[in-house]
Amino acid sequence: TVGMICLDKDRHMTAATSTSGLFMKKRGRVGDSPLSGSGFYVDSKIGGTCATGLGEDIMKGCLSYEIVRLMGEGFHPQEAAEKTVNAFSRKLSERRGKAGAISVVCMNNIGEWGVGTNVEFSFVAATNTAAAKVYIAKPAG
Ligand code: ASP
Repeated sequence: TVGMICLDKDRHMTAATSTSGLFMKKRGRVGDSPLSGSGFYVDSKIGGTCATGLGEDIMKGCLSYEIVRLMGEGFHPQEAAEKTVNAFSRKLSERRGKAGAISVVCMNNIGEWGVGTNVEFSFVAATNTAAAKVYIAKPAG
């Protein structure tokens, strides 16, 4: 999945995802990527989130909505992302031994951003003042 969250000079925000889905997926499968609240969510008054990984797990937690909700309660995007991904991943592991891959990127409407993951993934951050930079995120904690 490729996910993107954008913030313009007037504080309007958008989020978008594009995916090929999972390898060997069943015909007709719908993953998290096209579903608002799961694969992406944005509210210009707060911020936005995009997710990648095992859609079946991401959908169970409505993770993108939850991260935006926490940012709306005042959490920094990094805290909101880590808290949500870690807690949900732990919950799935306790229930069935292992969680699927879950990674998220998020940004609030003042351009602060964060990431959360239970695997390792790469992402890019770019602003109007700094050149795009590639980062590698690893599981926290
Ligand atoms: N999240 C996508 C899906 O489950 C797959 C991916 O991120 O690679 O359809």
